[in-house]
Amino acid sequence: MKGIVVGGGIIGLSTARSLLKSGYSITVIDKESIGRGASWSSGGMLAPQSEGLGKGVFLDLCIKSRSMYKDFIQELEYETGIDTGYWESGIICPAFSEEESYLLKKRLDEYLSIGLTGEWLDRKDLEKIHPHLNINIKGGVLYDKDGQVDSRALMKALVKSVKNYNADIIEDCKVLGVEEKNGRFFRLKTEKGYIYGDFCIISAGAWSGNIIDIPVFPVKGEMIAIDNPDISLSKIFYSSYAYIIPRKNKTRVVVGATEEKVGFKEGNTVKGVKKLLNGLVQTFPDMENRNIIEIWFGFRPATPDFLPVLDESWIKNLYISTGHYRNGILLAPISAKLISELIEKKAGNIYTQKFSHKRFRR
Ligand SMILES: Cc1cc2nc3c(=O)[nH]c(=O)nc-3n(C[C@H](O)[C@H](O)[C@H](O)COP(=O)(O)OP(=O)(O)OC[C@H]3O[C@@H](n4cnc5c(N)ncnc54)[C@H](O)[C@@H]3O)c2cc1C
Repeated sequence: MKGIVVGGGIIGLSTARSLLKSGYSITVIDKESIGRGASWSSGGMLAPQSEGLGKGVFLDLCIKSRSMYKDFIQELEYETGIDTGYWESGIICPAFSEEESYLLKKRLDEYLSIGLTGEWLDRKDLEKIHPHLNINIKGGVLYDKDGQVDSRALMKALVKSVKNYNADIIEDCKVLGVEEKNGRFFRLKTEKGYIYGDFCIISAGAWSGNIIDIPVFPVKGEMIAIDNPDISLSKIFYSSYAYIIPRKNKTRVVVGATEEKVGFKEGNTVKGVKKLLNGLVQTFPDMENRNIIEIWFGFRPATPDFLPVLDESWIKNLYISTGHYRNGILLAPISAKLISELIEKKAGNIYTQKFSHKRFRR
């Protein structure tokens, strides 16, 4: 059986890889180069608890995906020889006020009550992790199971892997739309002609709504990176100001991310970079003299309820995996598994029901 994956970001590539491993013949098509998109721009945090997600099916989905990450990475690194910077570093959510302490402790209690882990650390404990903290930081929650991957290294590994499995890759070719015949997927219309397949997956990130009728829109995020000489920071700090991510290989500290609904307006703004720099020095005043080594931006794929779409579409054999918004890196393993199982076994489950496109088509 031949399948087509539209979009070579993390969602498209991890789904393509899963299907290739099961013996399908897969074409990946992208309007630019594969391995880029929002996925390349991302912070790479695997952070369902630090994100403060409330109890429910979406949190369950995120926790499941986080628990799949170690195996996903081990296999990928073994296969490709690429170090993806995966690090179960733990993430600290610091509190800058008594009110924030209260809210963070309340969320922690909620997580503990459903069997997740985490602990409150006093300021003294935080100073052992980084001695130069803003004087207003009272303490913070450590989520020990949250962590990170270097999203750019991960994208390199996924590109290498799908090539190893002999995926057919078409780059610099924009998909214009989908054609059906008798309610089934027939072919893709692209700017360079038609592409035929037995099934197709739309995983075109923030641009997915340009291809089929789903309400996906971009939420822009800006990022910066500073150099990291001799820094022993070993945990991510994720506050209301910014998140600060020391990479495992100690080459850089990544600071993110702004959130703006400005369509696909490209570029870094003074406002955006200022916010990130402020977030950095608000947390670690001693980092003021570091060098800025890069600034960049990306477009998160969001839906009206900020939840993903993971299901077969209203056209048979046309599948949708998009709208992963702030958690697409985290959700890659589970999204690939859900869509592959739908295709291979026609097996939907609670997640494909809950995250069906149907909620937008009443
Ligand atoms: C600044 C920032 C920080 C983030 N931080 C995190 C984080 O720490 N943790 C986390 O889990 N998530 C994070 N995210 C979110 C995460 O990056 C996204 O949810 C995820 O990358 C979405 O992956 P995707 O494959 O759906 O989309 P993308 O990676 O954007 O890939 C979509 C691909 O589709 C292609 N495409 C689009 N239209 C067409 C077309 N018409 N024809 C052919 N190809 C097309 C694009 O060129 C692109 O390559 C962050 C996002 C941003 C922007």
